[in-house]
Amino acid sequence: MSTQTAGPRTDLRDWLDLTNAISLPPGMWVDGEWSPARSGRTTDLVTPRDESVLAQVPSGDEHDVDRAVRGARAAFEARVWSGLEPRERGAALIRWADLLDLHRDELAVLLALEMGKPVLVARDIEMRTAINAIRWYGELADKLMDESPRGRPHALAVVTREPVGVVGAITPWNFPMTLAMFKIPAALVSGNSVVVKPATQTPLSLLRSAELACQAGIPAGVLQVLTGSGSGVGAPLALHHDVATLTFTGSSAVGKQLLVYAGQSNAKPVWLELGGKSPNIVFPDAEDLDQAARTAAWAISFNSGQMCTAGSRLVVHRDIRDEVVARVIAHLDTHVVGDPLDPGTTLGPLAYRQHREEVLAEVASGVAAGATLRHGSARGRDEGLFVDPVVFTDVDPASRLAQHEIFGPVLSVLTFEDEAEAIAIANDSDYGLGSAIWTSDLKRAHRLAREIQAGMVWVNCYEEGDTSVPFGGQKLSGHGSDRSEHGLDKFTTLKTTWIDLA
Ligand code: NAP
Repeated sequence: MSTQTAGPRTDLRDWLDLTNAISLPPGMWVDGEWSPARSGRTTDLVTPRDESVLAQVPSGDEHDVDRAVRGARAAFEARVWSGLEPRERGAALIRWADLLDLHRDELAVLLALEMGKPVLVARDIEMRTAINAIRWYGELADKLMDESPRGRPHALAVVTREPVGVVGAITPWNFPMTLAMFKIPAALVSGNSVVVKPATQTPLSLLRSAELACQAGIPAGVLQVLTGSGSGVGAPLALHHDVATLTFTGSSAVGKQLLVYAGQSNAKPVWLELGGKSPNIVFPDAEDLDQAARTAAWAISFNSGQMCTAGSRLVVHRDIRDEVVARVIAHLDTHVVGDPLDPGTTLGPLAYRQHREEVLAEVASGVAAGATLRHGSARGRDEGLFVDPVVFTDVDPASRLAQHEIFGPVLSVLTFEDEAEAIAIANDSDYGLGSAIWTSDLKRAHRLAREIQAGMVWVNCYEEGDTSVPFGGQKLSGHGSDRSEHGLDKFTTLKTTWIDLA
């Protein structure tokens, strides 16, 4: 049976047939081939679907990192990629996007198996975003310009952007493809080689994608994917002297540690996309309160709440709180919880058992702290790793529920009296990633958009995004941007050349 995307797969049986036809990636992807860890060690990969062992994945260590970085550096110096015409690099990226599209169903299955994402979400949202990103940077390849100031009679200054060499990328498990592709095509189109360490839980989709990158004509060594733990592979990658730039998406704690590693090694720049506790602010003059509530329900439950931009703080005007909360709960109740391979499922399990325990412990401590539990429970479902969305009201803005990133489907509802209080609550956070405002007052929307400390502000919508605009945060949510032309900056270095014309 072909694993390529063919006719529509309409029911669970179709997706199970495809699952049975897929061969899982048999190793790490280094220098254009599958490779075991040098130590021969492996780790069991457990699927959150039913907690069975899916595969044995190589447990890389510093020797594997060194080998992959040396291979990437050798490819860079041999100019097999960096020496191509930009349009040739662009064409290879577009071929890669086409191949991923062709294998989209297969990759969606890998995503569903490795992290529990509902397969249609994986195919129609995660894969679409990842493929669009690659295609966008591929199409941009030969449209980028360097700079030269005008009008100097006796000299010419040329400001060029050059690839940095080897880019290290460390990515999380919640969007294994999308978040990797916020970085990899931008690094590649600039002429770099890239060594990626995906999260321990979710290496499969990226490994298969790297194999397809080679088939698309991206030369061996230019894109390496290493498997292993944060300490075994991530740390040596961040500490490696031949990694010129490090780009990271993950928790703020690990992000801070990477800055230390950079200081302990070659002072490489470290670009951080970190956690969030995004405020979703609803005013009584919102044009459509039900749409605001439906979107708030989506913002805390999409991807089972495992989203850096999750709208985890619903900041609602006191007068409309009860109505909005009732509507949010009604929308949350429309979720179909179940097998991620079932196309009818809209809410899958959490990604792994320990994470589920941590999320439920946060719910229990919220109850103990006196917040009112309006939906869900601190027990989760009896079977599997499923957690029904949780809604708390009467949340103290200074409490852990309101301040700590839970990274699960747990909504804290806070109330405000006036605009100034809404802004104060929104900004009372170490984080500054996403934010949303629901109002029909245009001036208010503009005022708040200016005042809110966040990398992204959505007005009467949530999580709008496109490869053409930056994605990134402020404060403890990180710095630098993925996506857009700005997403290229971190993967190039500026050089100024003066030429005497006198
Ligand atoms: P994490 O624990 O920080 O892990 C992220 C990556 O870092 C994983 O590949 C991990 O490897 C690796 N790592 C862990 N310790 C390391 C170390 N000492 N040195 C080098 N690498 C190390 O985060 P996560 O649990 O996967 O993801 C959840 C977090 O990511 C949340 O805070 C979420 O908000 C954030 N996030 C942010 C964005 C954004 O764009 N701002 C997007 C998505 C997620 P192992 O898997 O082996 O531990």
